[in-house]
Amino acid sequence: MLSWPDVYMPPALAGISHPTLTLFDSYKGKKVELRDEQVSIYVCGITPYDATHMGHAATYLAFDLVNRYLRASGKKVSFVENITDIDDPLLERALRDSQDWNELATSQIELFREDMTALGVLPPDAYRGVIESMDEIITLIEQMIATGKSYELEGDIYLDLDQVEGAMKNLPLPLEQALVIFKERGGDPERVGKRHPLDPLLWKARRGNDPFWAASFGEGRPGWHIECTAIALRNLPKTNSTSITLQAGGSDLIFPHHYMTALQAKALTGVEFASCYSHAGMIGLDGEKMSKSKGNLVFVSKLRRAGVSPALIRLALFEGKYASDRMWNIELLERAGELLERLLSALSRQEVAPTFEVVQEIVDALSNDLDTPRVFAALKKWCAETEGGQVGGSPGEISRALDTYLGIAL
Ligand code: ZN
Repeated sequence: MLSWPDVYMPPALAGISHPTLTLFDSYKGKKVELRDEQVSIYVCGITPYDATHMGHAATYLAFDLVNRYLRASGKKVSFVENITDIDDPLLERALRDSQDWNELATSQIELFREDMTALGVLPPDAYRGVIESMDEIITLIEQMIATGKSYELEGDIYLDLDQVEGAMKNLPLPLEQALVIFKERGGDPERVGKRHPLDPLLWKARRGNDPFWAASFGEGRPGWHIECTAIALRNLPKTNSTSITLQAGGSDLIFPHHYMTALQAKALTGVEFASCYSHAGMIGLDGEKMSKSKGNLVFVSKLRRAGVSPALIRLALFEGKYASDRMWNIELLERAGELLERLLSALSRQEVAPTFEVVQEIVDALSNDLDTPRVFAALKKWCAETEGGQVGGSPGEISRALDTYLGIAL
């Protein structure tokens, strides 16, 4: 799949030290260090039918900060993102709107690329669609069948969770809740004949007019979670003790999507899938949950058309911690606008307050689980010092740091 154009990222300032990046791991419930020298990152991409709302933007901008930090600190980073260009929600939306599912996907993928380009998100090294990855997904399912850890039910193929060590013991939420969420997010816990209600679907046999692909185990299409297992394992270099370093995405993917993706990988490789599982919070609107059903989604493309600059969108979304659920509202945009004006005004001066320490503070804050509120505090303090007449700094150091670490090119 065609990615989007490369984005120039200035190198780090000489003399700045980069502490090892820590991120909060949703399953371990604590921060973990990303120690690998070769960092393999897999971020779950969109299902192309409602691109790109603010929740998407917040997620891809958060992990863009991770990508930028690691690259600036001299690590070798491989970053892979997928696009779920065949899945039930896409087919349902196309049917509802009497649209061809393929055309809907193509137009939304294009819109997503435009939005990512405008927002200055570093493009992934591999941007992989499910359809183009069908051979590798099918091969992976064949391998799973060969392990004896899967079973067939009326042509459909499921993973037998009882055969994956720790699958039930490590559930990130009580079984009763897990069953409810599993069903809400496309699972079929009530299906008669499954060995365990939570067993994830690996392959859905051909039915009705649904699109299908041929495989040695029957015609059909893959389940949601196995797509990401296959694309991650096939496109990322293996790290020291796990298959990859980081699996990331929105917090609505913690269960079942990322949990099942990781279990499937473990069932195949015998090792833990990722050293860290990191998730961005959800974005609401004016005190309400933002959702397709409520019809209150705010889109990046609409904001752009209304003249809101990508720098403002970035600043607004970085005001709060990436992992917190937070609200999008006009006040947030106004506060970001005020900070942007203060920064532009300070940066236009010939004499500014000392800057090197501010850049180090920004780097230290980001290294600690992407503490962007602390970055904002450092920038505001520097603006106030500059406005107060302090001298000794170089405005270029601040504008370069904003570009390198926050993707804000002023
Ligand atoms: Zn995924």
